[in-house]
Amino acid sequence: MAKCSLCDRDAVYCPRYEGRCYCREHFVKWFEGKVRKTIRKFSFFGKEEHIVVATSGGKDSLAALYFLHKLSRRVPGWKISALLIDEGIKGYRDEAIKDFLRVVERLGVDYKIVSFKEEIGYSLDELVQMGYERGLPYKPCTYCGVFRRYLLNKHARELGGTVLVTAHNLDDVVQTFLLDLYRGDVKKIPRLGPVTGVSSHPKFVRRVKLFYEVPEKEVTIYALLNDVYPSTFVECPYARFSPRWQIRSFINRMEELYPGSKYSLLKSLLALVDALKEKYRERPRTCKICGEPSSGEICRACQLKMELGILDVKL
Ligand SMILES: [Zn+2]
Ligand SMILES: [Zn+2]
Repeated sequence: MAKCSLCDRDAVYCPRYEGRCYCREHFVKWFEGKVRKTIRKFSFFGKEEHIVVATSGGKDSLAALYFLHKLSRRVPGWKISALLIDEGIKGYRDEAIKDFLRVVERLGVDYKIVSFKEEIGYSLDELVQMGYERGLPYKPCTYCGVFRRYLLNKHARELGGTVLVTAHNLDDVVQTFLLDLYRGDVKKIPRLGPVTGVSSHPKFVRRVKLFYEVPEKEVTIYALLNDVYPSTFVECPYARFSPRWQIRSFINRMEELYPGSKYSLLKSLLALVDALKEKYRERPRTCKICGEPSSGEICRACQLKMELGILDVKL
């Protein structure tokens, strides 16, 4: 068994791109130091913040909540809240909510649960079925993504949040980057920056991707070592409909063969975000129907509702 590079205990993890090994204790220190460095580098937070953590009940967002709660004890001007969006995916989200409640109660963090059913009128399962019956061309992840983004922003703002944290990790970011490239969606690349939505609309809450520079595997180990790993890990039943899974295994194979290649992709991405952000700067308008920030006259959430026949408005 490999030994820690910093002491003589057994190692729990050896990042190949670093050529070192860490025991439990040194892993946690190293991991937290790395995230704090990301926070400083991209100026994620100020001294006074109400940080709303978008939490799904999965390992990444529970790890984000745990980490920020721990860090907040050293920053008197910070308040931490957790926000969970319940899409209503049978057998998936209900399990995750139990894990979410276990962690927020243990940490003593304020939280809010918002459901698709109450806010949109239908659960994701129902929306997917309705879209299918109407012959709409969208995949489940479209409904989920559009309504979730919409509700996260709206409720983070209503909670009084000054910044919304998502637990996107290095793997998520570089996967989306390659997906955008494969789809020719170059204009979406600036959204993959570490901070988005800065003062672009008065109703838009600034967003930061907490684990921007941390591979998924390391977030998993951190969650396990701090007992916030979900007790029941269930894969989203809709995941197999997404091309992300092909990209994910491709990127992981490349990382196996060439350690550090995920960081190289991130470096390319950051350079592109910088080069493209002015060209594709988004100037959000206000949705004519719901009053939320929108890229066009009508926001994506209201558009989807109209296509699904659940929003009847005369324009
Ligand atoms: Zn050690
Ligand atoms: Zn709208």
